[in-house]
Amino acid sequence: MNKIFQFVARQTSYCFATVPFVIISGYFAASYAFFIVYFSIDYFKPETMRAFSFTLIAMLLIVPFIHALLLGALRNFKLPAFLKFARRLNDFFANFTDYEDLKDDELLDLLQLLVRFPLYHMLIAILIVILVTLPTIIVEYLFSRSLYHLAITSSGGLIAGIIFCYFCYILTETLTADLRGECRKIISRRNMQKPNIYGISIRKKIIFIITIVFFSMAMLTYFLAFCNASLIATVGFLATTFLTVIVLTSLYFQSINSAFGKILVTTRELSHGGGELLHLGNNEKELIQFAENFNVSVKESIELRHNLEQKVEARTKDLVKKASELEEANRRLKELDQMKSNFLSSVSHELRTPLTSVLGFAKLIRKDFAKFFVPLAQGEEKAEKKATRINENLGIIMREGERLTRLINDVLDLAKIESGRFEWRDTVFPVGEAIKQAVQAASGQFVQKPDVKFSMNIPQDLPHIKADPDRLVQVIINLLNNAAKFTEKGRVGVDAVARDDGWLEVGVHDTGTGIPPDDIDKVFNKFHQVTKGDTLKDKPNGSGLGLAICRQIIERYGGRIWAESKVGKGSKFTFILPYFTN
Ligand code: ADP
Repeated sequence: MNKIFQFVARQTSYCFATVPFVIISGYFAASYAFFIVYFSIDYFKPETMRAFSFTLIAMLLIVPFIHALLLGALRNFKLPAFLKFARRLNDFFANFTDYEDLKDDELLDLLQLLVRFPLYHMLIAILIVILVTLPTIIVEYLFSRSLYHLAITSSGGLIAGIIFCYFCYILTETLTADLRGECRKIISRRNMQKPNIYGISIRKKIIFIITIVFFSMAMLTYFLAFCNASLIATVGFLATTFLTVIVLTSLYFQSINSAFGKILVTTRELSHGGGELLHLGNNEKELIQFAENFNVSVKESIELRHNLEQKVEARTKDLVKKASELEEANRRLKELDQMKSNFLSSVSHELRTPLTSVLGFAKLIRKDFAKFFVPLAQGEEKAEKKATRINENLGIIMREGERLTRLINDVLDLAKIESGRFEWRDTVFPVGEAIKQAVQAASGQFVQKPDVKFSMNIPQDLPHIKADPDRLVQVIINLLNNAAKFTEKGRVGVDAVARDDGWLEVGVHDTGTGIPPDDIDKVFNKFHQVTKGDTLKDKPNGSGLGLAICRQIIERYGGRIWAESKVGKGSKFTFILPYFTN
C-alpha cells in the first residue's frame, strides 16, 4: 500500500496521492449506506439503486476535484494547493530526496505537517460527505416525496459519512507513517529537543470505533422493530456491519501492530547488545511518548555500558601493569635471595678457615699457658689470680669460637639447602638404626646432667625409609640436644612408631622449661630463639637455626614437623615421614 502511495506521490503530489485510497474507502462507506437503505426500504427499488449509483459517480468526480483544489494535484501542471500546509508538504516531498539535508526547524515543520495531515484530511472528508450525500438525499426526497424515505437515506448517509471520515484519517495516517518515522529518527539522532507533536490518542480512536458499533446496533434494533425486515435482510445487514467493523479495526490495529513489532525487534536487539533506538511512524500520543521514554533509557544504558567498558579497559590495563611490576619485583627478590645465599655461603666459608686457626691456637695457648706459666705464678697471690683469669678468658674464647663454628656450619647448611645446592645422599635405610646412632651421639650431653633421666622407646621392627640417613640423624641429634639444653632435671625421651596409615612418627619429649604459646610456631623460623630478657646473657646457647634446618630436611622428604609445649612442664617435638611397607 505504501509503495503504491509513494509511486503515485512522485507522479502527482504527496497530498494528491491519497485520492485513490480515499475513493476506495468512499465506495466502501457508500456500499454500507446502500445496504442500510436497501434493506430498510424495499428490495430492488429503482430509486435506491439510482441513489447508490449517483453517490458512486459523485464520489468519483468530487473526490479528485476537491483534492486537486485543496491539496494540490499533478506536479507537472504546477497546480498549487489551496491549503498552505498541503503546499508545504508537497514541496518537502518534491524538493528533498534525502531528509538528512533538512535543517532542524525545517525537520520539525515537516514532522508537524505529517502529524496534522490525517486530521486535516478528515476535515476535507467531511466536506466531501456534505457535497456527495446532501444532493443524494435531496434528489431521493424529490423523487419519493416520503419523509420516512428521507429519514432512512439521511441516517444511511450519516453512518457512511462517519465511516468515510474515519477511513480517511486512518488511511492518511498509515500512508504518512514511514516519513514520520524517518523524521523522528533524524530528530533523535541530532539530539534535538523532543517535539511535542502527536495525533489522536489510542483512547479516542477506540471510543470512536465503539461509537460506530453502538450506532449500528441502534440501527439494527430500529429495523427489527419498525421495518418488518426479513431474516435475510437482518443477517445481511449484520454481516455488512460486522465486515465494516472488522475492516475499520484491522486497519487501525495494523498500525498498532506494526508499532509493537518494532518494539519487539528493538528490545530483542537491545538484549543482544545492540543499541538501536525505537523510531515509530505512529501518530498516537501514548506510543510516541513510550518511544521517547524508551529511547532515553536506551541512550542511558548505552552510555552506562560505554562507561563500564572504559572502566574495565582501564582496570585491565592497570592490572596488567601491576602484574608486570609484581613479576619484576619477584624476579628482583629471587635475584636478591640468590645473592644473599651466595654471599652467606662464601662469607661463612671464608670465616671458617681463620676461625679454625683461632680455635686451634687458643687451645694451644691454653695448654702451653697451663704447662709453662701457671707453675711460675704459684706462690704469688697476684700472679696466681691473673693466671686463673687468663685461663678463664681463654676458655671463653674457645667456647665462643666453637659456638661461632656451629653457627657458621648451620648457616652454610641452610644456605645450601635453600639454594638447592645441598648434596642429598638418599638411600633406603632402617629408621631404628638412625635413631640409635643419633641417641649415641647426643648421649654425652646427658652425662653432664645427672638429674636428667634419658629413655628410648622404639620397637625392634621399625620400617625402612628413603632419605639421606646423615640428615635424619642430624634432625634427631638437634632435637635431643635442644631437649638436653633446656632440661635441668626430670626426663628426656625419644620414641618412634610406624603408624598404620603409612607414616613413621618420631617424638622427642622433655620435662624442661617449655616454650610459651606465642613462640611455639616461631621456633621453626630462622634465628628465632625464645629469650627471657634482652641481654646476650639471656640468649640460649645456640644459633637459632637448628629447628629451621630440621624443618627443611623433613619437608624435603614429604614429612611434617611440629612442637607441643607447656611452659614449666616440658616440650614435645614430633615429626612424621612416609615409610616403605613390605
Ligand atoms: P638453638 O640453636 O638456639 O637451639 P633451635 O632452632 O634448635 O636453635 O631452637 C630455637 C629455639 O627454640 C631455641 O632457642 C629455644 O628457645 C627453643 N627450643 C627448642 N627446643 C626446645 C626445648 N626442647 N625446650 C624449650 N625450648 C626449646
